[in-house]
Amino acid sequence: MEVLLPRKLEEALEVKAAHPEAVPIAGGTDLMVDLNFDRARPELLMDVSRLPELNLWRREDNHLFLGAGVTYTRALRELPEMRALAQASRSVGSPQIRNRGTVGGNLGTSSPAGDAVPVLVAHDGEVVLVAAGDRTRSVLWSEFFLGPKRNAMAPEELILGARWKVARGPQSFSKVGTRNAMVIAVANLCLVMDEDARTIRVALGSVGPMVLRAPDAEAFVAGALARAGAWDDPSAPLPPDDLDALFDPARYVGNLDVVFDRLAKLSVSEDP
Ligand SMILES: Cc1cc2nc3c(=O)[nH]c(=O)nc-3n(C[C@H](O)[C@H](O)[C@H](O)COP(=O)(O)OP(=O)(O)OC[C@H]3O[C@@H](n4cnc5c(N)ncnc54)[C@H](O)[C@@H]3O)c2cc1C
Repeated sequence: MEVLLPRKLEEALEVKAAHPEAVPIAGGTDLMVDLNFDRARPELLMDVSRLPELNLWRREDNHLFLGAGVTYTRALRELPEMRALAQASRSVGSPQIRNRGTVGGNLGTSSPAGDAVPVLVAHDGEVVLVAAGDRTRSVLWSEFFLGPKRNAMAPEELILGARWKVARGPQSFSKVGTRNAMVIAVANLCLVMDEDARTIRVALGSVGPMVLRAPDAEAFVAGALARAGAWDDPSAPLPPDDLDALFDPARYVGNLDVVFDRLAKLSVSEDP
């Protein structure tokens, strides 16, 4: 197996153009597992961890650009104000995995259980892809993820990063697993309240072939807040009917059953 160590993005993209089969490796926390278990044996690996363009983040026009090579440890330390991203980053693996694992690697793997994915999805974010000749394109999350571990990246492209509009308002990331740490999500959820757009966005991971949005729930909660006048005055109480509907077990118990059922099966089969 040959390993290439480009230090410039241009160089890396030229390699990708000439050898589209070259497999990028960033932190290696997904890829090395596949290699160790003999699930993959690429002839050509390309280390993208030294590319400066991937290792930065910046705020631009009220948007966040998060380079593909930014690790969870850096996201936690350097972007604590991006609350959902920081919470998701904190939930990933162990300190060692967070030191190596990158957001770009999570997008590259495109697992429905990836913890960075719901954060991108709840922000209605896009994945920025780049190819030789300065060809950059931004792909909305809904067009990037095509299925479990499948995405719309072309063989000659690399993930440059993720980009989303910074939302004003509360946000959170939660995760249910078989134990408290070092765990793949049985279910995860990212909630973003966008006070300027007066919308609520909810992304759910590990409950379908791809991370899913919950448009009915989003519309219901945004509507309930509007009916209460709570977008203008957060202390305004919700109308009693909406409050009853929110706490009506018939609306959500079915879904919770699925999660608890999966938890029970996993704790028997994977965590003896
Ligand atoms: C013990 C352990 C615990 C874990 N816990 C969690 C967890 O709690 N939550 C979670 O979401 N994940 C978890 N993971 C999985 C993994 O850490 C994450 O998915 C991480 O984000 C992968 O990033 P990486 O940089 O290591 O990716 P790599 O392994 O380097 O790459 C992953 C994939 O992305 C591609 N890729 C990487 N960078 C680029 C790029 N710039 N352009 C194009 N393709 C690229 C690679 O070719 C590969 O297909 C865990 C893994 C281990 C081993």
